[in-house]
Amino acid sequence: MLSNLSYWEKQHFFNADVIIIGSGIVGLNASITIKQQAPNLNVIVLERGFLPSGASTKNAGFACFGSVSELIEQEESCGTDGLHNLISKRWTGLLKLRKLLGDKAIGFECNGGFELFKPLEQKLAEQCVSKMSHFNELIADIVVQKNVFTVANTTIKSFGFTDVNVLLKNKLEAQLNTGLMMRALITKATSLGVHIYNRCQVNAILPENGGVSILTNEGNFSCKKVLVSTNAFVNELLPEMNVVPGRGQVVVTSPIKNLKVKGTFHYDKGFYYFRNIDNRILLGGGRNLDFKAEETTAFGETD
Ligand SMILES: Cc1cc2nc3c(=O)[nH]c(=O)nc-3n(C[C@H](O)[C@H](O)[C@H](O)COP(=O)(O)OP(=O)(O)OC[C@H]3O[C@@H](n4cnc5c(N)ncnc54)[C@H](O)[C@@H]3O)c2cc1C
Repeated sequence: MLSNLSYWEKQHFFNADVIIIGSGIVGLNASITIKQQAPNLNVIVLERGFLPSGASTKNAGFACFGSVSELIEQEESCGTDGLHNLISKRWTGLLKLRKLLGDKAIGFECNGGFELFKPLEQKLAEQCVSKMSHFNELIADIVVQKNVFTVANTTIKSFGFTDVNVLLKNKLEAQLNTGLMMRALITKATSLGVHIYNRCQVNAILPENGGVSILTNEGNFSCKKVLVSTNAFVNELLPEMNVVPGRGQVVVTSPIKNLKVKGTFHYDKGFYYFRNIDNRILLGGGRNLDFKAEETTAFGETD
């Protein structure tokens, strides 16, 4: 606690030019970018978990920019220009991450992404097939490739699927190893001189003499600028943001002999997804089964 801290500790561990709250992918990338652009700035990241304890270490590791059915829905809500802009940001973000850390360090593999349709979803499948050339044209200048989305029905059997009659492929969709990526980000940030303090829960952010005071369970920090990157936990610090969380859940199977599934797979407009990882399947989604119950920041799995 603050009262037990030495003069040196207070002077050199509790003051920074920039304090970033949350060491997820956003907080770590922000810290890296700041240090790359202004190496002399003192940057501290405060993380309440022993590890980064949000979505960044618990996600599915899809390096994706949207399945066809998701893109149809997103175009309806943000328009064609808005969708182009969104895909451009997703694609550029992935390229930046790969350039920053290297494909090997993040376990990046481009095995393709697939969207599955069962016979009962024939209508949606037809709608998606009819929109494919539109999306291929829309993204051509972003990814600098043609015919990214194709019909891949001839490969259905090779994956061992039985009740699937339409399969669409995105040849640029990839997967990465979330654990490796986060370790690589931490290593990169630390190598640039970012100080990451774990088990340091921020309880309040207050203005202080032209700067900011950050109140934590380990004492009060001071900084010139603060960046809050706590994702859906943001309401705890900035209730006026009124962010509605949308929890996701993933499970990983035991090892499966002769696993045929390879790549990233989307089903039911992206509400279900699965991929191979090592010789297992990671399966996630189902938030649509109970949207209200999943508007939570609580950790855990439902039955
Ligand atoms: C189950 C699931 C699967 C997903 N799958 C994918 C996928 O396949 N592909 C994809 O691109 N995206 C996926 N996502 C989304 C992606 O993981 C998130 O968008 C991303 O990780 C958000 O990063 P972040 O840094 O904003 O937040 P987070 O990773 O949630 O980080 C926030 C950090 O803030 C810390 N924190 C919170 N409050 C405080 C406080 N008061 N004091 C100190 N620290 C605090 C938390 O401990 C946490 O470490 C998935 C998400 C989930 C939940």
